Amino acid sequence: MADCIFCKIVKGDIPSYKVYEDDRVLALLDIHPLGKGHTLVIPKTHARLLQDLDADDASAFFEATYYLLDAVQDAVGAPATTIAVNNGKEAGQEVPHAHLHLVPRFEGDAAGPIHALFPPASRPTMPATELEALAATIRSAFEDD
Ligand code: AMP
Ligand code: ZN
Repeated sequence: MADCIFCKIVKGDIPSYKVYEDDRVLALLDIHPLGKGHTLVIPKTHARLLQDLDADDASAFFEATYYLLDAVQDAVGAPATTIAVNNGKEAGQEVPHAHLHLVPRFEGDAAGPIHALFPPASRPTMPATELEALAATIRSAFEDD
């Protein structure tokens, strides 16, 4: 994608603070960090959403994330990390090239859990019957015809 900022970073056309690279994945420091050590993991091949990645890119992406967790936490002395993907425009994705945020977290940093994104009044009420029906619908995607 010629006009994609992360594709330009992958190609080396614009500079970045690289922290990890392999054949399929690049990780770099976010230029507007939400916290010290805020790192982005990106697939080298352009895809807008995580589910648009092919299975090998997806495996490499999550394997790199797995190894980056300790490396990034140790580098900034953090005991925890928030792992987040704004997966789609409606979820807040601004750069339309799939990426995962690793944000190191510290005691008392006041950012809160992912649950803080959703005010209690915005949360749906899901009775057991609805949860059961929804679970069955999702399971059906994995069943053979
Ligand atoms: P998102 O809202 O999930 O699409 O997040 C995009 C992230 O990319 C933001 O946190 C930006 O600060 C970050 N970002 C944008 N341009 C660059 C860049 N050239 N180098 C590093 N991070 C960037
Ligand atoms: Zn791209």
